[in-house]
Amino acid sequence: MNPNLKPVSLRAVVTIIALFVAIVTAIGVPAGYFYVAYSGEGQALQFKAQLKAGRLAKYIYANNNLWQYHTVRLTELIEAPEANDPEDQKRVYDASRKMLLEVGPSSYPALTRSAPIVINGTKVGDVEVSASAAPILKNTAIVAGLSCLLGFGMFFAVRVFPLRVLNRTLGALAVSQEALKDQNRRFDAALNNMSQGLIMFGADERVVVCNEQYIRMYDLDAAIVKPGCLLIDLLRHRTERGRLCRDPEAHRSEVLEKHAFGLPFTVIVEAAAGQQIAIANQPMAGGGWVATHEDITERRKAEATITHMALHDALTDLPNRSFFKEQMQLRLEHLARNEKFAVLCLDLDRFKNVNDTLGHPSGDKLLRLAADRMSACLGEGDTIARLGGDEFAVLQGNQQSPDETIALVERLIAAIETPFDLDGHQAIIGVSVGIAVAPTDATNSDQLLKSADMALYRAKAERRGTYRFFESEMDARMQARRTLELGLRKALRDSEFEVYYQPLINLLTEEIAGFEALVRWHHPERGLVPPLEFIPLAEDTMLIVPIGEWVLRQACKEAMNWPDDISVAVNLSPMQFKMPNLTQTVMSALAHSGLPPRRLELEITESVLLIGTDATLTTLHQLRSLGVRISMDDFGTGYSSLSYLRSFPFDKIKLDQSFVHNLEENEDSKAIIRAIGSLGASLGMTTTGEGVETQIELDYLKGQGFTEAQGYLFSRPGTAVDARALLAKRLPNARAVA
Ligand code: C2E
Ligand code: MG
Ligand code: MG
Repeated sequence: MNPNLKPVSLRAVVTIIALFVAIVTAIGVPAGYFYVAYSGEGQALQFKAQLKAGRLAKYIYANNNLWQYHTVRLTELIEAPEANDPEDQKRVYDASRKMLLEVGPSSYPALTRSAPIVINGTKVGDVEVSASAAPILKNTAIVAGLSCLLGFGMFFAVRVFPLRVLNRTLGALAVSQEALKDQNRRFDAALNNMSQGLIMFGADERVVVCNEQYIRMYDLDAAIVKPGCLLIDLLRHRTERGRLCRDPEAHRSEVLEKHAFGLPFTVIVEAAAGQQIAIANQPMAGGGWVATHEDITERRKAEATITHMALHDALTDLPNRSFFKEQMQLRLEHLARNEKFAVLCLDLDRFKNVNDTLGHPSGDKLLRLAADRMSACLGEGDTIARLGGDEFAVLQGNQQSPDETIALVERLIAAIETPFDLDGHQAIIGVSVGIAVAPTDATNSDQLLKSADMALYRAKAERRGTYRFFESEMDARMQARRTLELGLRKALRDSEFEVYYQPLINLLTEEIAGFEALVRWHHPERGLVPPLEFIPLAEDTMLIVPIGEWVLRQACKEAMNWPDDISVAVNLSPMQFKMPNLTQTVMSALAHSGLPPRRLELEITESVLLIGTDATLTTLHQLRSLGVRISMDDFGTGYSSLSYLRSFPFDKIKLDQSFVHNLEENEDSKAIIRAIGSLGASLGMTTTGEGVETQIELDYLKGQGFTEAQGYLFSRPGTAVDARALLAKRLPNARAVA
């Protein structure tokens, strides 16, 4: 029903009623009054006429003859004193309606009543009495006026006031209706903008409310799924649309069964292939329930992705360290008697070179390719993981004999040693492998990984591209290494280092050209520790950076005690080149000591150039532009020494002592010495032979044009005091002090 019609018709009805009441009041009251007054007056006149007619009859009966002419007597009889009606007009007629007598004033309008004069049953005449009707009419008019006023009042009372109240009520009703509409609109908006589908069922299993999202979610027909629709019809419709993966009747029974407990519950159902819906059911008071349907397909996928990401390495998509550890732990827990499994730690060799020279994208590609190749080597039950950087790990699920592990390792090594093609660049890398076997070597995952790691460390230390099984003594060595590291940190704090100096002899003048600064560690328990025992560890832990800086400052300071033509050579570790402030460090050491840059030589090994980045070369050029000289130390021990000579204009080549020792028996060494001698001469570089211990070695170097020599033949490295003493002698032939 249209709600607008209701107040309009009600208003009309009230108006009609009010009009009716007003009219009835205005007309009915005076009419009634008139009627009553008129009939009352009429009756009075009638009575008077009858009374007078009776009196005349009595007189006529007594004086029967010619009574018509007894006018005076008749008048007296009519005007009887008891009547007291002087205002009335009285007339007497004879039987023939001839007026015999008329008494009293006439009036208009008049009200007249008559009565017959009857004698012995015969009418002999009539008496008529008239009175003025004016008072009645006047009073009626007054009553009518008052009635009109009353009617008007009634109209107000019946129409205006109730309608005002009605309007007020209707107004309030309209406001609350509008508010209700607003609320409904908001409710609709909220319902239809929910991300979940919502459907409410009554106790009779019929839909009460259903939002658009529900219809959309299941691709349903809104003409079917609407208030009043039965649950079973809805489920059948969903089946038709392929949005219910089970029998509708069975589903309905299950839903009702669960609702029978009257408790909220949530179920996850597969609506269509791959579409996961979480349905939260909430029972309502008085039966029925509300169900919110949420499509959790994407959320589930995202959760799966997050779980995958948490357990896998993003670059290679291999399991990561934590996943790998879990796998190890699981395997350990389910290890049957006499069963064994192996854990392999793998570290790619020379991967850093590729990363540094070809860039990180190529490095990433290499890691992915390496991961693929290694995965292809695995057997059933084996797992591979990327632990980080270029470190991988393999779990060989079942190991019958060490040979099986060796076979797997060899497959892995061969796979990695096969050159990789990185967008046209060939990259040759290798892999070192450490192996630990459970439960022999360890019974928990951490220990197992640690043991494999120790074995890897050994493999790398001995020879790259190889493998080592864990041995218990490795653990002891690891312990020793850790103790050494702690000792090194303490040494730096407690100034346990000292710089020794070994002279470099100019072979033309046979005089001291300079000294090489070589660090020594005065260990509180072990005594003097040679650098080769602690420098690799210092490099691993980056402690070489502060140690190297200390040596540099110390050497520069000491050189200021020497004659102006004596230089000092300081060894720089590749790790120091990784620091962005190396040039500043050198400048600061020079500035603090006051040593002219020409007197400082910096010795670098090929491994510095292996870092190969532009930044390294820039640093080298900066250092050289300071006036500092750059020497290539241990020349010939690297992979492509000659090519490195091309990459930077070195001032000096120091041929590694391995070529100098026993050169008499080694023709190859002699050939190399010859080649370096002539190379140095043609490039104008100083050529230094290291580790010269015999006169034969010295003579051969001289013969091949070497310009400088260093070795025990001249002097072992000694303290600063020793160096000063040597210089003090300034003997033409330095050999005398050796
Ligand atoms: P290096 O720079 O090649 O230094 C020469 C090494 O050869 C020194 O060993 C020296 O004592 C030794 N040597 C000299 N003449 C002979 C000889 O006739 N026969 C034999 N067998 N050896 C001789 P040292 O002092 O043990 O140093 C070893 C290496 O440690 C150095 O090789 C250098 O690479 C490194 N090193 C030493 N001090 C430092 C330092 O302060 N910083 C850095 N980064 N490395 C240093
Ligand atoms: Mg050196
Ligand atoms: Mg050397």
